[in-house]
Amino acid sequence: MTNYHAPDNHQQDPPAKHGREQAEVKEIVTDTINTHRVRFHEEENGVVTEIAEEMTFIAPEKEHRHLQKPLSYVTQEHMIDHEHHKEQKDKAWKSAWQDTFVQNPQQWLEENAEKLQESFGDFGGKLMCIDEGVEPENGKNAVYIAGSGILYKRDELKGKSMEERADAFTKAIDRSAVRDVTSHQLCGACGMCKEFGEDAEKVAMMWGKAIAKKLGVPYIDHVPPARRPKEFHDALFAYYDGTGRFQDPARAGLPKGFTYSRGILNDGAQGAFEIGVARSIAMGDHGFGKRFTKENPFTIVVIGDPDRPEFSEEKLLQELQPIADQYEMVKIITMKAPSQKVS
Ligand SMILES: [Zn+2]
Repeated sequence: MTNYHAPDNHQQDPPAKHGREQAEVKEIVTDTINTHRVRFHEEENGVVTEIAEEMTFIAPEKEHRHLQKPLSYVTQEHMIDHEHHKEQKDKAWKSAWQDTFVQNPQQWLEENAEKLQESFGDFGGKLMCIDEGVEPENGKNAVYIAGSGILYKRDELKGKSMEERADAFTKAIDRSAVRDVTSHQLCGACGMCKEFGEDAEKVAMMWGKAIAKKLGVPYIDHVPPARRPKEFHDALFAYYDGTGRFQDPARAGLPKGFTYSRGILNDGAQGAFEIGVARSIAMGDHGFGKRFTKENPFTIVVIGDPDRPEFSEEKLLQELQPIADQYEMVKIITMKAPSQKVS
């Protein structure tokens, strides 16, 4: 029943994760269920990332609300917690691989070129998170950036206020693409931003409101991640959309996936970073993790814009190549978007 997680960068490591030795219980969130929040650091290629996890303990034990418990306790519960989801994940994994697209995406795309168009619409829409669980309103358009933009240049803008970071994001984004703004429950991206507060739900809503105000559009709602289990991420795919017109994979019968609207924010480094976040979630403890292999990969679907050279397939592929080079269980494929040019 882990409610939130941040990227796990150690999928290659043995089960004992050295980063967690630095963990400490920071806060006890509620006294009706035993939710603890721990914070620790993990290192990947010399980059130290702060990770925060919130855990709902299985057996309620009142005294834990008042005492700082040693890490061993936290870790043990944590592992029990994951065992608890193992069966659910095994089942979800097995069922996801029954899908004909999942089994052979390239063949599906060749055979369903026309149907595929149903996932595309007009440019822009409601701004949502890249989380595979968020669901665009039926028939309405949507665009996707992690945490509705909360990770925008996070390292570069370290120490800046939410106001300043919202300002930077809303200046960088194509404003014409955003009609209104949402935030969502259990948002991993917002949970990463402890600098804005410990409560990820509040942070998500505050950010959503801040950017909506700057963009001069309505902030709509704090929605549940309706398309996935609350306990884990079950995406096998990430869609990297250069058009800003890829509305919803489900409309064409494509499997769910993290969706990033690269075509509304012309910043390849930011795009690659956000797809990297999606990858680490999917391949980490709270995603399908080590179930991904070279034969059953996590697949990134690149959608170039046939009408705009700055968002071309070639350019987008180049941006993401380092991720595929680094992880043999990551595969990149391409998907053709319809052109909007009248021929
Ligand atoms: Zn999110």
